[in-house]
Amino acid sequence: MARDKVPTLDEFVDGLDKRNPGQPEFIQAVKEVAENVLEYVNDHPKYNEHQILERMAEPDRALSFRVCWQDDEGNIRVNRGYRIQNNNAIGPYKGGIRFHPSVNQSVLKFLAFEQTFKNALTGLPMGGAKGGANLDPKGKSDAEIMRFCQSFITELYRHVGEDVDIPAGDIGVGGREIGYMFGQYKRITNRYVGVLTGKGLEFGGSPIRVEATGYGAVYFMEDMLKRVNEQIDGRICVISGSGNVAQHAVEKVLALGGKPVSLSDSSGFIYDKSGITTEKLAFVKELKNKRRGRIEEYAKEFGAEFHAGQRPWAIAGELAFPCATQNEISGEDAKIMLKNGIIAVAEGANMPSTLDAVRLFHEARIKFAPGKAANAGGVAVSGLEMSQNSARITWKEPELQRLLRDIMQEIHDRCQRYGGVAGDKNYIDYVKGANVAGFVKVADAMIAQGVV
Ligand code: GLU
Repeated sequence: MARDKVPTLDEFVDGLDKRNPGQPEFIQAVKEVAENVLEYVNDHPKYNEHQILERMAEPDRALSFRVCWQDDEGNIRVNRGYRIQNNNAIGPYKGGIRFHPSVNQSVLKFLAFEQTFKNALTGLPMGGAKGGANLDPKGKSDAEIMRFCQSFITELYRHVGEDVDIPAGDIGVGGREIGYMFGQYKRITNRYVGVLTGKGLEFGGSPIRVEATGYGAVYFMEDMLKRVNEQIDGRICVISGSGNVAQHAVEKVLALGGKPVSLSDSSGFIYDKSGITTEKLAFVKELKNKRRGRIEEYAKEFGAEFHAGQRPWAIAGELAFPCATQNEISGEDAKIMLKNGIIAVAEGANMPSTLDAVRLFHEARIKFAPGKAANAGGVAVSGLEMSQNSARITWKEPELQRLLRDIMQEIHDRCQRYGGVAGDKNYIDYVKGANVAGFVKVADAMIAQGVV
């Protein structure tokens, strides 16, 4: 007889804790989802009978492997590589690769879990995965990065494929790294297929893949504001990070008339009261993508403030775009942001707000878009890159721009559909909306496919 009692959140988290010792990021991500989903499951018993949430929170497969490579001095270096294939109920595994010293199994399990919901929200047929290595790319030469990427994919190639698992970029992995991995994959397998997304435009990449995550986060913000007849135009925007996502968030904020005033990296943040302009953004792109320098140089170049070792959340502004990394907004930060007049947050990064921060934003009834909804534009255009690769064609840029805009609007509407709050008809709980909408799609596919 199938079980009929839905576990309480405490019971569920208890089991999760026991099965995943020493994995705080993973537990944090699953707990946030479980809070909303268990409530929903209470009213929809079939998901409980099939133990869907428990099954989703146990990756299909967690791979870990040694990555040996030689640095420019000839020393042999050993890193650890991973691929977590979380769920492929609605399509092949899909998700980025992260190279950062903080990478471990907990971080990648949280990211693969989130990716499962995010990919479902895009409406495209993609399952959830994530991979990476505990490599610190800072200060490494091009040749070292190439050797590392070649070694990494020489193991990973046997676990991925255009219909199996399609990795892409994430923190520390951009066009350069994807190019090196693609080259080595092609060499090993002698097959020219869309096994990775985020490729260069010359060899199967898609127009606007680079812009998509940052643009998408700003579109999501635009849609949240539009719902209540407000807009980005004229508003001060506090942005963290300075990589691909932050750069294109700045670009789209500027296009919509907003005023971006900050950027950050692991050494601190810059505050440019007069606003980051298109010309200043061009400097940031050169600095970060070509010279791979520190954000402090921006302050020197343009006479802006630089705050070493800090994050930008004490700056007065109205819209916030955390685009750096997980847990970059603490409960204390959230309190200051609310005091300073932040009215909406769209997460460009994955899980940048801690559980405390999310709770405070929710209690204050500001508009809060979680990463799995707001930053889904990147993987959505990856999905479109996969389609183009399968058909061996490239769509025109205006068409892709339109598709990205439409997909972000659809994600917003899916969140709205499931994010209503009883007794408060003007408020949308986007966290609940994203969690439940993503869950339902994957869950229904899992039930249809049986106990596997
Ligand atoms: N790493 C990105 C994310 O967090 C993109 C993944 C992809 O394009 O597969 O969604």
